[in-house]
Amino acid sequence: MPATLIKGKDIREEILTEIRADVERIRDKTGAVPGLVTILVGEDPASVSYVTGKIKTAQSLGFKEVQENRPETISEEELLALVEQYNRDETIHGILVQLPLPKQIDEKKVINAINPDKDVDGFHPVNVGRLLIGGGGVKFPPCTPAGIVEMLRRAEVPTAGAEVVVVGRSNIVGKPVAVMLLQKAEGANATVTVAHTRTRDLAAHCRRADILIVAAGVPGLVKPEWIKPGSCVIDVGVNRVGTKISKKTGKPVAVLKGDVDFEKAAEIAGWITPVPGGVGPMTITMLMQNTLNSLKFMLGME
Ligand code: NAP
Repeated sequence: MPATLIKGKDIREEILTEIRADVERIRDKTGAVPGLVTILVGEDPASVSYVTGKIKTAQSLGFKEVQENRPETISEEELLALVEQYNRDETIHGILVQLPLPKQIDEKKVINAINPDKDVDGFHPVNVGRLLIGGGGVKFPPCTPAGIVEMLRRAEVPTAGAEVVVVGRSNIVGKPVAVMLLQKAEGANATVTVAHTRTRDLAAHCRRADILIVAAGVPGLVKPEWIKPGSCVIDVGVNRVGTKISKKTGKPVAVLKGDVDFEKAAEIAGWITPVPGGVGPMTITMLMQNTLNSLKFMLGME
């Protein structure tokens, strides 16, 4: 396999070690630690698993972690009141409402109710605006795109002048990662194309990409022959394609595949991310980074 593997798992450990050291330093100097509240509505297994991962990571870093679990039947009014309680809590620097929310609740209303200066997911319109404008005003880049940009930086993949093709235009991955890479800034300065289901000749766009970021949620969408030799392939897709018996636990576990045919693509690309273990571990890591940064902003430390 000629491609260099960009392993999110290893980069996560590097970043978490940096965050842990920073948390200790700030705690020793000021007595304050980053505070994160995770609000989970209902018991959807995927949401429970994501929130559990966030809680465990926050605790392992020495954060204050508050869990607010509410039943599926919670009213919009009650949820908005809960958000408001943490908007006012000075020991909390990050508010995370796990999405999706049940039908009776307007997700937009809840996101808009979060204080933008505690919106560590980066989904509030104020933070989306800050991201688009770029520069020093960016407070909380959304976590998965921020993880992708950080992976490119740490793997020393050149972005200035690079042809970047992003497949997918969602608000949580495709659009923000495109915006981040086209900024006039170090680690960006790319020429960006965003492709979607209406794109004519997706293969032709992919073939000229120096950096190909695929976030479509379609297993094996990108064929090996679409990949430019020596390019960097970031596979964001996480697709459950079946189950297998875990050797460790003897229990059935999901078989995950990305949007790219990994084995063959790795023979052609210069860098590639695996699925699982690539972009996936970066999302929670960047949430922790945003929460730490939120405390630093509040303390006027940067
Ligand atoms: P999404 O909201 O479903 O958006 C998918 C995007 O891909 C849409 O813009 C869609 O185009 C485009 N698309 C779908 N099929 C296509 C095709 N055949 N050709 C070209 N474009 C196509 O998905 P998402 O939330 O961005 O997530 C994308 C994938 O990333 C999923 O597998 C998800 O599980 C994964 N993901 C992983 C992480 C992580 O690892 N931490 C985080 C978030 C998401 P239209 O707009 O035209 O419909």
